[in-house]
Amino acid sequence: MILRRKTRKVKIGNIFVGGNSPISVQSMLNKPSNDYRANVEQAKILESAGCELIRVSVNDNNSVYLVSKLKENINIPVISDIQFSSKYAIESIIAGVDGVRINPGNMDTDGLFKVVNVCNERNIPIRIGFNGGSVKDYVFLESNDRVNSFVSFAMNFIKLFESWEFENMVISLKTSSIETTVKSYEKISSLCDYPLHIGISESGTEKSGLIRSCIGIGSLLLKGIGDTLRLSLSADPLKEVQYGIKILKFLGLRDSGVQVVSCPTCGRSSIDVEYFANEIEKKLGNLNKNIKIAVMGCPVNGPGEARDADFGVTGVDGKCLIFKNGEILKKVDEKDLLPELTSLIDV
Ligand code: SF4
Repeated sequence: MILRRKTRKVKIGNIFVGGNSPISVQSMLNKPSNDYRANVEQAKILESAGCELIRVSVNDNNSVYLVSKLKENINIPVISDIQFSSKYAIESIIAGVDGVRINPGNMDTDGLFKVVNVCNERNIPIRIGFNGGSVKDYVFLESNDRVNSFVSFAMNFIKLFESWEFENMVISLKTSSIETTVKSYEKISSLCDYPLHIGISESGTEKSGLIRSCIGIGSLLLKGIGDTLRLSLSADPLKEVQYGIKILKFLGLRDSGVQVVSCPTCGRSSIDVEYFANEIEKKLGNLNKNIKIAVMGCPVNGPGEARDADFGVTGVDGKCLIFKNGEILKKVDEKDLLPELTSLIDV
């Protein structure tokens, strides 16, 4: 079981981040800010897919208005993402956002102070989203020096905010390097107890970005670090939400749902494992049950895996043995496997 690092609890709209709150998954809208309908529609899709916090960039009057439209139409917290402008941060707060994300490297101290003041008055949390690129001469530093410079850069701002009596913060320290990001989060975890938003910055296209994000986010979660997460993919934000939820499920950090495990197949396989694993996932993957289904090509590992799964399928001489809790229930033809399994699982 993963032991989570103890952090403070921060309230963002109607959810909590940090403390013993469930790790939340978030994403960001990517439609043009003047297209309210497309943004609201995208936000609703993300919400129904399980997104728990939604971020929207606020950099003009259209996007301030968009904040109010989102608040009217969805129930999950809305966070305004601000670069450079304290004016739009404050206007988004007046328009009803539940949280603000700023990159302090992109705002002058006066602007930061104004935003912090308004957030303090209205009890609005700020995610301080540090970015490696904001550190002076960052690109010229060696790996460990990057971590040290990045974390001290972040700690200086955290102390500045604390000196303004503001502690309603979530922190992120993202870079596009997995190693620097993971080490930076580890280091800051030992220096403060603010909740951490984790992810790998600019992680890339759907496939490459997913792999980078799984390595980075997975490494951190296994160390108990991370209170909320986002996969930053050059892809439909819906993917970010779906993959984020899967990472948490696979690590046992939320109800597993239906998990299909299957062997990589080899010359011994006597059924089409790839086909059956995909079909079972498609047909049963969204059931509201916490079960593990193992699909194995032959008896070499089949019965062993089946013992560890709620249901197991093993190929034998072109037929399929179906197991339940390690006990053989039936031997069926390949064509009957899906209906038999479906009825046994009591769909
Ligand atoms: Fe090969 Fe059988 Fe192992 Fe699958 S379970 S990889 S078919 S030996």
